[in-house]
Amino acid sequence: MFVVMAPAASEAELLGVKSVILAEGLSPYEHAGPDRIAIAIVGEIGKRKAALIERLAALSGVASVTPINRPFKLASREFQPEDTVIRVLDAVVGDGGLTVMAGPCSVESRDQLFETAAGVKAAGATILRGGAFKPRTSPYSFQGLGVEALRYLAEAREAFGLPVITEVMEPNQVDIVAEYADILQIGTRNMQNYSLLTAVGRVARPVMLKRGYGATVEEWLMAAEYIISSGNPNVILCERGIRTFETYTRNTMDLSAVPVVHSLTHLPVIVDPSHATGKRWLVKPLALGGVAVGADGVMVEVHPRPDEALSDAEQQLTIPQFADMMVSVGVVHGYLRDQPHNPVDSASATAGGDDALSRH
Ligand code: PEP
Ligand code: MN
Repeated sequence: MFVVMAPAASEAELLGVKSVILAEGLSPYEHAGPDRIAIAIVGEIGKRKAALIERLAALSGVASVTPINRPFKLASREFQPEDTVIRVLDAVVGDGGLTVMAGPCSVESRDQLFETAAGVKAAGATILRGGAFKPRTSPYSFQGLGVEALRYLAEAREAFGLPVITEVMEPNQVDIVAEYADILQIGTRNMQNYSLLTAVGRVARPVMLKRGYGATVEEWLMAAEYIISSGNPNVILCERGIRTFETYTRNTMDLSAVPVVHSLTHLPVIVDPSHATGKRWLVKPLALGGVAVGADGVMVEVHPRPDEALSDAEQQLTIPQFADMMVSVGVVHGYLRDQPHNPVDSASATAGGDDALSRH
């Protein structure tokens, strides 16, 4: 549930509400929006619910107390109606612009990273990606350059002025990755690694949370809730394909997840057509599809010579292929942005309160 403060409520009244919540052994979580200050109550409320609502509603300065009908609370649109906008260096995610994260699957050498960074920057990428610690299906496959790769990424940020994103796989890597990278990525295999989610929730870096390949939208948003409730509100969601019976593509990109997630949460969502399809020639059409259904951005793997790549050789784009994709993606994004009423938003409004998830 959350408390909405009256517009004229004083600081003392706000503190009064928070202290009642704390005294119950629960945590207050404040969100100051443009029109209202809301305080979500986080924790196991259980049977106290009715009594607590009554008690909070009677406090001075309180306008209303509203239950949140979703299992995710802080991530819900009910609690925070306006979109979360995340700023990292010069890049902005979730403001209606198009975020493009591009770079190699793995950082393989300083030269390979720099050559890719120069190419993707020239083509309009806004964030540089590159794996340092790689989650590989086989223990005998290339596992990434580790800290050496983190150093190259930080150097590339300085050289090209692009924020960098890289995956963190374990709680004990969080500090070192946060020291070098601007955005921490949680990979699909770790979406429900709760100790890792809690650990990235405690650092002052935005987190990109990839959807688990076997996770429902609700499980994905609950994973985001772990990060936010640990203290980090800057979460970007990434749809990267889910496992279905189809084997022609590496995964199946769930395009419907984009508008569904936009209706349920204020968090930005981007799509990763590289891991979703596993095939180079499918990356551009699926990137276009993601943008057409309203994604806030795309993540795409790019390599100067994909055939020589040490990981995901089949799906990485060459730099010219990436530049070509950018032109098309820019056209679709520009078309949607220039409509007087965003056609994607009005589609979800028509569905009006469509209840995609079970209520809890
Ligand atoms: C990646 O983006 O480097 C990656 C390994 O992706 P995923 O976790 O989606 O497989
Ligand atoms: Mn990859």
